[in-house]
Amino acid sequence: MCIFCKIVNNEIPANIILENEDFLAFHDINPKAPIHVLAIPKKHIDSFNEVDSKTMKNMTTFMQNVAKELNIDKSGYRVITNIGENGGQEVGHLHFHILGGAKLAWSHLSDADPKGNI
Ligand code: 5GP
Ligand code: ZN
Repeated sequence: MCIFCKIVNNEIPANIILENEDFLAFHDINPKAPIHVLAIPKKHIDSFNEVDSKTMKNMTTFMQNVAKELNIDKSGYRVITNIGENGGQEVGHLHFHILGGAKLAWSHLSDADPKGNI
């Protein structure tokens, strides 16, 4: 079972922000911003590449509610999902990073050589 499925099953602890029947949001263990929360579907889906549109529809509303709960809906925030190896995905259970609480830098997010050189 993957690490986020273990969080869903209460096998490992997490600092939960918001939860409903289908989704869970909890603080990232290694925050990259003053507020860094992960939103996940409770059912295991490998990544954004595999998610169905109905789940994404409901996930959208859930993440908007997470932003409200964190009181960053007005000040602004960033939603990121990493996909696969080149996307930098480390945990193979679909998750959306919700980052806020400060003005976020943008330049480092895609710092690969645009010509594809390493
Ligand atoms: P990825 O690199 O897959 O997009 O992001 C995985 C995220 O999960 C990372 O930001 C990492 O800090 C977070 N993470 C990994 N293991 C745990 C854990 O056991 N608990 C929590 N709360 N976050 C985790
Ligand atoms: Zn999982």
